[in-house]
Amino acid sequence: MEIKFLIIALELILLLSSHKNDDMLQVKSFVFNEFQENTYVIWDQTKACAIIDPGCYKSQERLELSDFIAKNELKPELLLNTHCHIDHVLGNDYVMAKYNLPLHLHKDELKTYSDTKKWTAMFGIPPLVLPENLVFLNAGTAISFGETSLEVLFTPGHSIASLSFFHASSLQLFAGDVLFKQSIGRTDLPSGNLNTLLNSIKEQLLVLPDETIVYAGHNEPTSIGEERRSNPFLRNLQASL
Ligand SMILES: [Zn+2]
Ligand SMILES: [Zn+2]
Repeated sequence: MEIKFLIIALELILLLSSHKNDDMLQVKSFVFNEFQENTYVIWDQTKACAIIDPGCYKSQERLELSDFIAKNELKPELLLNTHCHIDHVLGNDYVMAKYNLPLHLHKDELKTYSDTKKWTAMFGIPPLVLPENLVFLNAGTAISFGETSLEVLFTPGHSIASLSFFHASSLQLFAGDVLFKQSIGRTDLPSGNLNTLLNSIKEQLLVLPDETIVYAGHNEPTSIGEERRSNPFLRNLQASL
């Protein structure tokens, strides 16, 4: 009788731990370049990983990223850009060459990519070459790595075709520069539009559960619930919800 009880207890523990593993998505953030941009490496139990918005430009930054991947024995399978402002794309060429990966982005962000030459000129660095190995994403495109799949959300307004990537089973969102802790993305850059941005936040992000962790392109993470309750830029939006 006692042994039977023990077996049931063990089965329960195994069931709970395997369920937890299914949902496991680990996140490491790096802060790179002059713009203090957040680059994310995310991985699951298979050690397959995705790299989101590599902003590493200096050789030290690039080494920091690849050392982390090597030390943790991660296998890069996916390179994603939420959008193509200069601070989010400075490390694309490095990641593409080092791990032999195509770049996944929204097609309409190609214009944003070519606009980076204004910024490179300003900072006195060579213009960025648009990569050739591209895969275009749209809302609803299924993207996956290892045993993980991410939902692609179309969240324009900060730039013309910003995407956010949502991992539904662990409630983690990678939102680029759309929504920040106590703030929202700037809309004064070319192709920015405040109404479009607020609409994206309202229709794509605030519909997610309050517990959803938001990993933004700058500053520390927040949650949908926290921003719903206290983000000053969303007050008028709440009234109209
Ligand atoms: Zn941006
Ligand atoms: Zn940014």
